[in-house]
Amino acid sequence: MELKAIRGDITRLPVDAIVNAANGSLLGGGGVDGAIHRAAGPDLLAACAALGGCPTGDARATPGFRLPARWIIHAVGPRWRGGGHGESALLAGCYRRSLEIAAGLQARSIAFPCIATGIYGFPAGAAAEIAVATVRATLAALPLPREVLFCCFSAGDLALYEALLPGA
Ligand code: ADP
Repeated sequence: MELKAIRGDITRLPVDAIVNAANGSLLGGGGVDGAIHRAAGPDLLAACAALGGCPTGDARATPGFRLPARWIIHAVGPRWRGGGHGESALLAGCYRRSLEIAAGLQARSIAFPCIATGIYGFPAGAAAEIAVATVRATLAALPLPREVLFCCFSAGDLALYEALLPGA
């Protein structure tokens, strides 16, 4: 398996699946969610509405519509409330469930944004550690995906991931 950190706009990546940092309604929002809905086009909102929401720590898939990616996996991260409300386990659930869903869709490559670290306020360093550890552990038990990109929007986030992925 290959784990890599890159800096860029996740909506442009030619991977089999991208992950969205969605909210529980799945009806769109700001940040990366807004960017994905703008890039994928209006059919995405209709597909999301049909899913009827998603619990925190879990994920749901739609087609990618106008994106280069074939699938969008909408993961619902936890809102940071100080760390004592199960936030870490819920964030790990986002990464684990997204990979399980990607495997079911036969996706070989997948890109994640830094889920919950924007508007939801999860500390970026702790979130990166959870992301990398959960992806490694989950992929060990799955045949697919084989290639995972951590798509960072900021230079600071990229530095955090590069420190956790030596030699990548
Ligand atoms: P959340 O509500 O889960 O915190 P946000 O969208 O506010 O979600 O932030 C999650 C991360 O996505 C942040 O690191 C933010 O900088 C990043 N981000 C915003 N737009 C994009 C984009 N187009 N591609 C990749 N990452 C993005």
